Amino acid sequence: MEKHLGIYFHIPFCARKCSYCDFYSLAGASGQMGAYQKALLTHLQESADRLDGYYIDTVYFGGGTPSFYGAARLIELLDALKRQGRLLVESEITAEVNPDSVTLPDLTRMRRAGFNRLSIGVQSTHDETLKKIGRIHSFAAAEKALKNAREARFENVSIDLMYGLPGQTMESWAEDLSRVAALKPDHISCYGLKLAEGTEMYVLKDSPFLPDDDLQADMYLYAVEYLARQGFIQYEISNFAKKGRESRHNMKYWTGQEYLGFGAAAHSFIGRTRFRNVPDAAAYCRAMREGSPLIDQIESIDAFGLAGEYLMLGLRTTRGISEDEYRRIYPSDFSGIEERLKAFEHYGWAVNPNGRWRLTPKGFLISNVLIGQVLDAQSSQVQSAPEPAAPEDLSSLVENAVSLTQSEADAMFRGI
Ligand code: SF4
Repeated sequence: MEKHLGIYFHIPFCARKCSYCDFYSLAGASGQMGAYQKALLTHLQESADRLDGYYIDTVYFGGGTPSFYGAARLIELLDALKRQGRLLVESEITAEVNPDSVTLPDLTRMRRAGFNRLSIGVQSTHDETLKKIGRIHSFAAAEKALKNAREARFENVSIDLMYGLPGQTMESWAEDLSRVAALKPDHISCYGLKLAEGTEMYVLKDSPFLPDDDLQADMYLYAVEYLARQGFIQYEISNFAKKGRESRHNMKYWTGQEYLGFGAAAHSFIGRTRFRNVPDAAAYCRAMREGSPLIDQIESIDAFGLAGEYLMLGLRTTRGISEDEYRRIYPSDFSGIEERLKAFEHYGWAVNPNGRWRLTPKGFLISNVLIGQVLDAQSSQVQSAPEPAAPEDLSSLVENAVSLTQSEADAMFRGI
C-alpha cells in the first residue's frame, strides 16, 4: 500500500543572526549557497528510488531563512522533487519567509511554481522590540510582505509572533495580537521566548528587562483567549488556525507520521527510526560530494517508545490522546496513565470530553511537567509488566517498522 510522506528542506542561511536564535543557521555565509544547493539536488537524486512506495503530500522549506536563499533556488528544488513523480497535486507546500527578503515578483514566481503556503516571521509589531532581538525588518515590511503574499494569490499564510520579549508589556503584546489579527492571516504561531545558552541574548536570563514567568503565562493565556475570539482555533500548544488551515506538515510531527529531511541538521522519521543529517552545511556538502557520513544521529524506537512519543506529542495538541489509540501502538494497561490525567483534571489542567484526554490552556503552560508525569506513569507500568508482544493490528507506524543501524540508514536514505 502506498504511504504518505512529508518532505523537509533545511535552508540554514540567514541575512543576520537574531540575538535569541539557537536554530542551526548561518549568517554571512551566502558564498556557500551554490555548493549547498548542489548538495541538496544530489541528495534528492540519490533518494529517488527510496521514495518509491510513498506519495508526498507535504513539503516544507524551513530554516534559516528560505526567502534569503532565494526564490530561484527554492523553485529549482521543488521542480526537482516534482520530477521524481511522487508529489501529490493537492500537496501543502510551505516556505518560511522573512519580511526583509521577500518581494512580490519572488512570491508570484513561487506561487506559480506550486508553493501554496507561506510562514512569515514577524515576531513583533513594535520596531523597537524587533531591533532589540536583532531582527532586521520593521513591522511595515511585515505588513507589506503579507499584502504581497495575497497579491501573489497565496491563500494560506501564517504569521509567527513571540511573547516574553525584552521590554514587552501586556499592553504591547495585546497590541501585537490585534495588529496581526487585523492583517487577517490564516494561521498564527505564538512562541514564548526561551533563552538558550550560547545565544547573544542569554546574558539577559533572569534579568528585569524580560517579562517574568507570571507575566509570560498571562500573555499566553491572553493569546489563547483573544485568538479564539478572532476565530482562530487552537490545535497545538503554540499554534492557532482558521478552520481547515492547520499546518498539515507540522501535524505530521505531532501525530507520528513519516517525513524525510534534506539538508544539514534536518531530521527524518521513517518506519520506527528517527535520524538526523550532520548539523553542519560544509559537512553535508562533503557527504554529498565525497561520500563522508551523512547521518550523525540515529535511533530505532520500539513499541513502548512509540507509545511514549504518542503520549508526548499527542498531549501537545488539542486533539489529545485516547486509550484506544495508545493500546493499538502498545497494548498494555492504561490505568496508571489515566489516573495521572484524572489528577490533572482535578486541577483544571486536563479535560476528557468524548473519550479523549487533552490538556487545557493552563495545562499547556506547564506541559513539560505534566507530560513528564504521564511518561513516568507509563514507565512505572512497564516496570511492573514485561513488554507485551506486538499484535498484528498495530498502527501503521509499527506495521511499517524498520530497524536500522547508522551505516544501513546512511546507505538506505542516500540510495547507495
Ligand atoms: S531569521 Fe530565524 S533562523 Fe535566522 S537567525 Fe533569525 S530566528 Fe534564527
